[in-house]
Amino acid sequence: MALIVQKFGGTSVADIEKIKNVAAKAIREKNAGNEVVVVLSAMAGETDRLIALAHQAAESPDEREYDSLISTGEHVTITLLSIVLNSMGHRARSFLGFQAKILTDKAHKKARITLIDTKEIKKELKKGTIVVIAGFQGVDENNNITTLGRGGSDTSAVALAAVLKADRCDIFTDVDGVYTTDPDICSKARRLNKISYDEMLEMAMTGAKVLQPRSVEMAKKYNVPVYVKSTFSDEGGTLVTKEDKEMEREVLSGITYDRDQAKITVVHVPDQPGVAASLFTPLSEHNISVDMIIQNASAEGFTDLTFTVSKKEMKEAQKIVNTTAKAIGAKKVEVDDDVAKISIIGVGMVSHSGVAAKMFKTLSNESINIMMISTSEIKISCIIKRKYTELAVTALHDAFGLEKKK
Ligand code: ADP
Ligand code: ASP
Ligand code: MG
Repeated sequence: MALIVQKFGGTSVADIEKIKNVAAKAIREKNAGNEVVVVLSAMAGETDRLIALAHQAAESPDEREYDSLISTGEHVTITLLSIVLNSMGHRARSFLGFQAKILTDKAHKKARITLIDTKEIKKELKKGTIVVIAGFQGVDENNNITTLGRGGSDTSAVALAAVLKADRCDIFTDVDGVYTTDPDICSKARRLNKISYDEMLEMAMTGAKVLQPRSVEMAKKYNVPVYVKSTFSDEGGTLVTKEDKEMEREVLSGITYDRDQAKITVVHVPDQPGVAASLFTPLSEHNISVDMIIQNASAEGFTDLTFTVSKKEMKEAQKIVNTTAKAIGAKKVEVDDDVAKISIIGVGMVSHSGVAAKMFKTLSNESINIMMISTSEIKISCIIKRKYTELAVTALHDAFGLEKKK
């Protein structure tokens, strides 16, 4: 007997028909003699709807109430699935985050799971129950409902698979696996049979929303085999797993884009010790993540400092940076949210030279200007004008020959 965690995303539970299809998939695993834990998202579009309502109610909604509200989409889907399963003669029980004892820290909107007490879940599994758990939500030590960030049901599922020592974590979605790039914007995208945790993590962190980055981090840490599969077909699938020799031969495994980026430039900053710390400390104290950072060479004791944040956090970041800029004697702060980040990812980069040059040449052939560059061992990212996103992705996909199986 194996223990399987199945996670279904928003499009997979968008209406009752689709929820019945999910029920059939859970029953199939159960009838094969397995223990089954199902983790669900809200119906497609529901979390967006709830977020919009919160912002209609107040410009800056109270965070505790905001999390409590936006977690309700999952309440609906887990109960509907359990009703369907029970009506079909299969014992099922729905669990909200607090009932499943998914404990998190206090960081509303981007809470981290700190502990899952699995006693109750295991008791139900022993009874043969199909355990249906709300993704995306947890509870902090003061009993406040928290949410794990957009796409957080992936992380709920992998975390449950890790603590329950599941044999598999299946992530069911609207595509039949992880592709070389988003198949939604590049028709030549190719499905990968396998991808390493590290490459998947870079892809997720740079914008491939098929898996939430934290879910991949967790899968790697606890060695959880993750399969990305289609809810609507039994074909295909991608295994996210440890790196193997076959993977190393590929120079690139994927190309990603992220339009949720804003660029902030602090102009004419005195070039002296402590300046970067005084700019970035208040941002981190407000829980604002900074992504790429570049500092120009200094001229006559002054320099420009540019960095990127999530577009959603731009206004708050700008306010904070304005205050610091005044205090440290910078000339002005400029913001630009008409940008996108394009990244190429591959473990093979380590052993192949000329990858960066090829990326820059490809973008220049399309007359796309590069505003910022950052690199890691297995990734190169460039900030470009937002309107060139699809052109850049397609051109790079062609240039690196990703449509062909090597
Ligand atoms: P779910 O609601 O099931 O969690 P998401 O919308 O979060 O689904 O993620 C699936 C989507 O991710 C796909 O529809 C696809 O457009 C997008 N995506 C972006 N990059 C990739 C990629 N490299 N491979 C597969 N899908 C990708
Ligand atoms: N429903 C949440 C969201 O839309 C969580 C998820 O889908 O994973 O972000
Ligand atoms: Mg998702």
